[in-house]
Amino acid sequence: MVHALLMDGTPTTVQGIGVSPGIAIGKAYLVDHGSTPIAFHKLSGAAAEAEEAARFEEAVAKAERDLQAIKESIHPDLKEHLHILDAHQVILRDRLIYDETLRIIREEKLNAQWALKRSLRKVHELFASLEDEYIRSRVSDVDSVGERILRNLAGQEDLAIQGIRERVIIVAKDLSAADAAQLQLERTLGLVTEMGGRTSHTSILARALGIPAVVGAEKASRIIHTGDILIIDGASGKVIINPSEDQIGFYYELQEALENYLKEINRKAHLPALTTDRYRVRVEANIELLEEVVAAKDNGAESIGLYRTEFFFMNRDTAPEEEELYQEYRELAELMAPQTVTMRTLDLGAEKLGPWFAHPEQVNPALGLRAIRLCLQHQELFRTQLRAILRASAVARNIQLLFPLISGVGELYEAKRVLNEVRGDLERRRIPFDPDLRLGIMMEVPSAVAVADLLALEVDFFSIGTNDLIQYSLAIDRVNEHVAYLFDPLHPGILRMIKQVVDTGHRAGIPVTVCGEMAGEPIYVPIFLGLELDSLSMNPQSVPRVKNLIRRSVLAHCRVFLTEVLNMRTAEQIRMSLQEMVLRTFPEEFKFFDPSALSPKLRTAVA
Ligand code: PEP
Ligand code: MG
Repeated sequence: MVHALLMDGTPTTVQGIGVSPGIAIGKAYLVDHGSTPIAFHKLSGAAAEAEEAARFEEAVAKAERDLQAIKESIHPDLKEHLHILDAHQVILRDRLIYDETLRIIREEKLNAQWALKRSLRKVHELFASLEDEYIRSRVSDVDSVGERILRNLAGQEDLAIQGIRERVIIVAKDLSAADAAQLQLERTLGLVTEMGGRTSHTSILARALGIPAVVGAEKASRIIHTGDILIIDGASGKVIINPSEDQIGFYYELQEALENYLKEINRKAHLPALTTDRYRVRVEANIELLEEVVAAKDNGAESIGLYRTEFFFMNRDTAPEEEELYQEYRELAELMAPQTVTMRTLDLGAEKLGPWFAHPEQVNPALGLRAIRLCLQHQELFRTQLRAILRASAVARNIQLLFPLISGVGELYEAKRVLNEVRGDLERRRIPFDPDLRLGIMMEVPSAVAVADLLALEVDFFSIGTNDLIQYSLAIDRVNEHVAYLFDPLHPGILRMIKQVVDTGHRAGIPVTVCGEMAGEPIYVPIFLGLELDSLSMNPQSVPRVKNLIRRSVLAHCRVFLTEVLNMRTAEQIRMSLQEMVLRTFPEEFKFFDPSALSPKLRTAVA
C-alpha cells in the first residue's frame, strides 16, 4: 500500500512541503484575491496632495479597524497567535511604510497606491539584505499589510474566507496571518499554498490548529479549481488533484489509521517518558514567547527546557525596561510552577537587534558579536536582564539560568562575575531572589566541548545546542542555503562530541539536556536514549511523538545500537542503520509523518 503512495506519479500530483501532518480529502476552495491593480498618477496642487494623504490615512485606519475586528473574533485555539496580528498593526504605522508613504505623496506628488508601492519596495530591499532566514521570511508580514492597505485604497473587499459554507480544502497563492486567523476551523479540512516554508505563519498556525497543510506547492492556485477533489498529505507534502477511486480508498484508510494513532499518543502525552526497562527522560519544551506556555502544557511538556528570551527584545522600538521584563518572567514562572523554567540570557546577534540598539556592521554575524559576548560588552543590557530574572526567581523558585555560546572557562568566569555583582546588589537592597538558583551553560561551541570537564566544575547543568554545535563544528553557516546539505546531525564528529559532553557531565554529577532542533526529531530517539541523556527540550508540538517513542523503546537495545553507531565511519552508514532501526521498531513514524525522509532503498523495503 505504501508502495502505491510512494510510486504515484500522475500528472495531477503537485509536490510541496508538508508542514502540518495529517491527511485531508475533500473539495478545493480557491481563495485568491490576486494582487490589487495599482494606478499611477501625479498629483497637481496642494489640495490634491492633502486629499490623497487623507485617503491613505483612512485606508490605514480602516486596516487597523479590520485587524482589530479579526482579533476580537479569533478562534479560541488561535488566541496565543494574536501577537502576529499585533505585529501587523504595528507594521501599519511603521515609519518606513506610514511616514515614508505620506512623504512620497507630499514631496514627490505621487498618488497613494504608487507611493505605498514605492515604500514597500524599499522595505523589501532592506529585508533581502538581512542574514537571518527567519527574520527575512517575515517580509511576508509587510506584504500582507501592504496588500490590505492597497485593497482599501482600491475599495476592494477582504478575502471571502468567512463566507465559506461547506467543509473545504483551502487553496491559495499565499495566506497572510490575518487570512489564516479568520479560518473557520470547523470548515477547514486542509490548506494548500504556493508560497511559504516551514516557518511561515500559515505553517505555524496550521500546526497549532492541527490542520493538515502543504506549502510551497508550485502553481497550485493555477492548476487547482474550486470544486476539484483533492487529497493532501501534510507529512509528505503531496497534493493529488482529482484522484482515482483507488487513491481515495487508500488515503481514507491512511487517514483513519493516522487519526487513531494521534489520538492515542495525545492521550498519553501527559504520562512520563519511561522506556520499557524504566529509564526516564524528561521531555521539555522550547518556547520563544510567554504565550507558548499553553501549547507546552497542552502537549505534555514537563517543564520549559529553553526560553529564548531574545524574542521579547526583537521587533520593538525601545529596549524593555527591567520592570517590564520582571512582569513577563514572573508570569511565566507562576504559570509553570512548580515545574522549572530554564531562562537563557539574551542570545541576540547583530542582525537580530531592534532599532533601539546601535550595532556595528558585521561581515559574519554567526562568528561575531552575539549572545554572551554581546552581553559582556554591553553590560547594562545584561545586568538589567539578570536583575529581572533574579527577582522573578523569588516568586516560585522554579527558574534556572542558562548562558548561551560559552566558549571556555575564562568567559564563564566573566559572566559569573557579573551575575554575582547583580546578586550582591540585590542583597544590599534587600530585594529577594532564589539563593539556590541553578546555573547552566549551552554547550554549542566546539572549544567548550573540549574543556567540558573544566566547565562542569563551574555549573549545575549542561544544555547541548546542536543547532550551533553543528554549525561551528562542521563549519556550515546555518542560515546559508548553499551549504545546508552539509548540515548533518549524524556526522560521526557530532555524535562523538555529544557523547563527550554527556559522559563528562555525568562523571561530574550534573545533568545534560539536548535543546537543539535535533531533540524534537523522533528519528534520533534511539541515539539520545543510547547516550543516556537526562532530558530533551523541543518545540511543543513534538513532545507527544517523542514521548511515545521513548515509552516504546528499550534502553538496553539503544545502548547496544549506539555502540554500533559510534563505530561507523560516515553519516550515511549511520543514517541507513538508524532508519532501519526506527522502521523496525516504530513503522508508523515513516508511514504517517515522513515517508519522504526514507532513502530510496528503504522506500522499496516498506512498499
Ligand atoms: C542551538 O544552538 O541548538 C540552540 C538551541 O539555540 P539557538 O537555536 O537559539 O541558537
Ligand atoms: Mg544556539
